[in-house]
Amino acid sequence: MTARSTPAPRGSALEAGQTRRAGDAGNDAIPEYTTSALPETACPRCGVIDTPVIGPGSGPHHASARCPQCGAWLRWLSGYTPQEQAARREQARQGALASRPPSVRQLDCLSALGCSAPMSSMLSASITISAILQARRGGER
Ligand SMILES: [Zn+2]
Repeated sequence: MTARSTPAPRGSALEAGQTRRAGDAGNDAIPEYTTSALPETACPRCGVIDTPVIGPGSGPHHASARCPQCGAWLRWLSGYTPQEQAARREQARQGALASRPPSVRQLDCLSALGCSAPMSSMLSASITISAILQARRGGER
């Protein structure tokens, strides 16, 4: 369990330039923020209320929180910091918006705002609507 030298960086899918402090091993390396942020949890199996212990991950899951008494699974733990999670979520959201055509409601909104420029995606429509509304707020008040 002390094999810290196994070069199996979990974050190998990350782009170049990004660093991971937990990148020196697989599930053995649990980030400090994860272990320190675990709140006391009631175990649904045995009823003990205690700070969970870190268990192995599975598939896409970095690690698991487990009952210290009976070892029951409580929840999955991410290998990313909360900031990284938020950034990845926002990036995925933008990607999803960019892959969809603008919605009828967005087109109605743009029309009501007096914008007739063609929109290629939900993302461009969203950005345009925000820009128009922001310009109006800034200009009138
Ligand atoms: Zn338990």
